[in-house]
Amino acid sequence: MGGQGRLKDVLWRIFPGGTTALAVAILFKLGAWQPLEQLAYIGLFNLRGPLTWDERVVVVGIDNASLQALGAFPWSRKYYAQLLNQLSQAEPSVVAFDLIWSDTSPDDPALETAILNQGRVVLAEAPGFAGMVLRPNSRLESVASTTGHILRDDSTDGVTRYILPSVQDIPALGIAAIEVYGLVEAPIALPDLNKRLWINWYGSTQQIPHYSFIDVLHGKVPAEKLRNKIVLVGVTADGIDPLLTPFHQKPSSSGVYLHATVVSNLLQGTSLQVVAEGWLLIILLFWGPAFSLILSCCRPGLQVLLWLASCLSWMLFCGILFHANYWLMMASPIALITGTTAVTLVSERLRISSLLRHQVKQLLQMYYPDVVQNSETSLFGLERINQQPQSMQPVFQLAALADQFGRSQSAQAVIARSLSTGLLAADLDGKVWFCNPVAAHHLQLQVGNLLQTHLVPNWLSEREWQTDLDQLKSGETVNTRKLYRDGSWLEMKVEPLLYQPTHQLDGFLLVLNDITERQQIEQMKSDFVAMASHELRTPLTSMRGSLGLLMTGKLGTFSDKGQRMLEIATGNIDRLLRLVNDILDLERIESGEITLSPQVCNLADVMTQAVEIMQAMADKADVELVLTPIVMQTWADPDCLLQVLTNLISNAIKFSPAGGKVWLRAKQLSAMTDSDEDLNNVSKDQDFVISSLLKHSTGSILLWVEDQGRGIPADKLERVFDRFQQVDVSDARQKGGSGLGLAICRSIVQKHGGTIWVESTVGKGSSFYLLIPTMPHKSDGTTSSFVENNISKL
Ligand code: ADP
Repeated sequence: MGGQGRLKDVLWRIFPGGTTALAVAILFKLGAWQPLEQLAYIGLFNLRGPLTWDERVVVVGIDNASLQALGAFPWSRKYYAQLLNQLSQAEPSVVAFDLIWSDTSPDDPALETAILNQGRVVLAEAPGFAGMVLRPNSRLESVASTTGHILRDDSTDGVTRYILPSVQDIPALGIAAIEVYGLVEAPIALPDLNKRLWINWYGSTQQIPHYSFIDVLHGKVPAEKLRNKIVLVGVTADGIDPLLTPFHQKPSSSGVYLHATVVSNLLQGTSLQVVAEGWLLIILLFWGPAFSLILSCCRPGLQVLLWLASCLSWMLFCGILFHANYWLMMASPIALITGTTAVTLVSERLRISSLLRHQVKQLLQMYYPDVVQNSETSLFGLERINQQPQSMQPVFQLAALADQFGRSQSAQAVIARSLSTGLLAADLDGKVWFCNPVAAHHLQLQVGNLLQTHLVPNWLSEREWQTDLDQLKSGETVNTRKLYRDGSWLEMKVEPLLYQPTHQLDGFLLVLNDITERQQIEQMKSDFVAMASHELRTPLTSMRGSLGLLMTGKLGTFSDKGQRMLEIATGNIDRLLRLVNDILDLERIESGEITLSPQVCNLADVMTQAVEIMQAMADKADVELVLTPIVMQTWADPDCLLQVLTNLISNAIKFSPAGGKVWLRAKQLSAMTDSDEDLNNVSKDQDFVISSLLKHSTGSILLWVEDQGRGIPADKLERVFDRFQQVDVSDARQKGGSGLGLAICRSIVQKHGGTIWVESTVGKGSSFYLLIPTMPHKSDGTTSSFVENNISKL
């Protein structure tokens, strides 16, 4: 994949997470996650459980019992004055009232005195409450240490989560109490007055030391319980000043506990820290795409697991931070993880489905013609597939295609098994992946075996096997081989197996035929021919002798008619003898009975001898023999070479008109130059293989017999070297031909490691060429590998 392709792939993978992150961030800004976040907030508190209150805080509550004792609310301020007087004996550090005394009352002087006596009293006020400023009347305010606001900013679910530390420069009641406490006792660190102060709820408000107003008033509370404490006085009676906390919703708690909690938080330094919204948004926008990238690398089951693990991890992380008094949003990140997982799963399904459609379409196009077809409609069960929902069709098509391939495959396997021909398929390393019983029986192997160990060296040599493989890999046709072992003959053909989509070589097929019987018949035939020829030759020779004697007239004279009959009989016996001799020669050469006796011989001598032998025949046919000998030594069997040359010259004379010319020429190929007209003529009209052969055979000798005779038609050119192949049978017979001369020539030339071919134009003449190496050749009749490889092509 290129750089651009990789980038595109990554973009596709982060797309689901990117879009989900954006959507979650927008919804976050719009406050859509708030209800869930509020639930998570309450859940976190309840999971964490209660904390221990600071023991320096005490609540004196105007509870139900106090109301019962002192009557309905509001009370006369003398009770508060009495309370302060009682408290003064206990010497608390600070007394803060969560009650607003705006109006004036006749009891104010008493209260004023009590406040003055106590000395560290904080009074409540509510700036901006319902459009008015509710503050203590000036008389009381003037004697109080300070005032603190008691405004609340409850969330939409009614739960109080934070306070504003300062409103119109008036600190919250709890903070004001702490300020006064700091003056009396050790100073306490104050929070940033410009930021919300998030409350860290302690658990049940019942856990804080609290006493009933009436009990304190009546001196029932021991002084040491209140000494040096911050005492918060407020209403705790049911339903008067309800406060909703994560731990108190039904029933609710009372407003005074909010200030008690603030004071306790500040004393302990445990107020809740909130991770800034901006940070959370940035985390969301990065985490979405990253998570989607991770998901895209996993399989679906793992994706769901990852989703679950991520959600739980985030919850755990939030829980751990919460324990450290940090509050982190929980709902929106979990929404992001869930949304990204869902979008990734859906988009992957869509991608897979479109890929599947595409692949099925390609497979159908590629293999449609290969699949066994009964009829158009039943192919792939088209009707059945069409009844399936659109989205499922590719799956059914794929299954039908596989089904058809399976059927086709098993049909082919049955055919292969029932063949008498051995079939074996292997990959390029020689590992067998299919073989029918015949092949398995012949080579004694099974699927999974290596051919190298079963075929080599039992049937053929390592070198032969490598040659075949090299030919196969280079795209050449591998020659058929005859293999012999323990009295059995096999004919082996190697065919390439091509992988259809790429047409690349994927392995090969071995086709094995048992030719033992054929070989035996051929052997018998050849034995029979040899024997019959032998048996024929002896009586024929003696008959020929007897007829010769009769024709001399020594045994009496014959009439003219008798003499003519004797001549006809002699001619026929001569022809028969030639045929028998030719058959015997050919059989002996091909069976190896006649072995060559190559030696260094003078080519000019052999050529001259051939012309001398044929001169009489030429004279008789009125044909001129022209010899262009070359004086050089070569490596050949002189008798055999002579036999080939006389045969070719004899044919040339036979098929030349009276007055024609026959040339016998020779050339050493290393001497070939551009100015050499004869050789250029030779190579000029050659096809590519022959001219390449000549170029690569430097050092070889080229001999050729050229005539101006009738020529040979192009379609017969290749066959004239086969046995009993005659262009014009009756004419050839009349000329005493057996149809075996050229076959013998070819066998002899091949035994020399050479090659023979003919070129001819009907009506103009023929040229028979011999290419013979000057060097000793290998015993199996091969010369250089180039010549060896190309002889078959000629
Ligand atoms: P034959 O004994 O019949 O000559 P050969 O094997 O020598 O058998 O030749 C096979 C056939 O090839 C001939 O019968 C003839 O038809 C053809 N042939 C061979 N040499 C020539 C030639 N020089 N010109 C024309 N035809 C030829």
